[in-house]
Amino acid sequence: MPTGKIVKSLRELYYVQSGGSVFPCKGRGNFRKKKITPLVGDDVEFNIDENEEGYILEIHKRKNEFVRPPIANIDQAIIVASVVEPDFKPLLLDRFLVLIESKSLQPVIVFTKTDLLDDDKKQEIEKYKQAYEELGYQVVMGSSKIDHSLEEVSTFLEGKTSVIAGQSGVGKSSMLNALEPNLQLETNQISKSLGRGKHTTRHVELIEMYGGLVADTPGFSALEFQGLELDELPDCFPEMREFGEECKFRGCLHNKEPKCAVKQAVEDGDIPRFRYEDYLHFLHEIQNRKPRY
Ligand code: GDP
Ligand code: ZN
Repeated sequence: MPTGKIVKSLRELYYVQSGGSVFPCKGRGNFRKKKITPLVGDDVEFNIDENEEGYILEIHKRKNEFVRPPIANIDQAIIVASVVEPDFKPLLLDRFLVLIESKSLQPVIVFTKTDLLDDDKKQEIEKYKQAYEELGYQVVMGSSKIDHSLEEVSTFLEGKTSVIAGQSGVGKSSMLNALEPNLQLETNQISKSLGRGKHTTRHVELIEMYGGLVADTPGFSALEFQGLELDELPDCFPEMREFGEECKFRGCLHNKEPKCAVKQAVEDGDIPRFRYEDYLHFLHEIQNRKPRY
């Protein structure tokens, strides 16, 4: 039985990519008894019958699944942050990083709109770039308006299924269009949000790019730590995973506890203070979260 990957779903039809071709398939397998609905990103077994009709028969176990966008088996999230228009906000980038780390996805950070930077601002952004690189993150910096400037992003796509994350207007669609000029995704937030009203459901599609697949709809725009528990937060920061090993108390939240190696590392300059402050911001946010009934 052939296997493939669902790259698009539209009107009860699932488009399964297999061996360089795409086969429209209906769902007709045991999974329906288990109330599992096929998702874009699913790896499936399918069959084409004598009438040339395709059917999905099995869905392989998912590595992960997401609601917005509705998609399964994501490997990586590319977080786009503009350096200006809108201004770069480390707290917002850290929020995306926490969300992505909490789902065990690989993050890549892309700073865009560098063509709009003045010299002072450029130095500030370079400092942030270095700080994130020292934390172990991959960082690309460039502009969609300058040819080849964001080409390095393409090297992260091969063999992976990626989703693009980031605030509205930072240049996500422009970046994808710059990487793949045939794509022609609609850019500019105003026209996009007008267009959106016409379609009540957003369809997500996986697009083949540079030997990988990229979701054409941005993910993680709901910026809440929905399921995240307090004790899971430190694990979403690589520097706390590292220094937290040395804290006196197991399960140290690096807040009011004595003999906290993370707080010491902040004092010693081994952890950037802005990262620690953002961490505390999220900690308090989770602590003050209204209980869900
Ligand atoms: P999205 O909402 O994140 O997909 O952002 P868009 O790609 O729609 O871009 C929002 C606006 O920023 C558009 O007007 C783009 O032309 C502009 N833009 C995007 N990338 C760049 C860039 O690198 N440099 C400049 N100067 N403008 C950009
Ligand atoms: Zn600690």
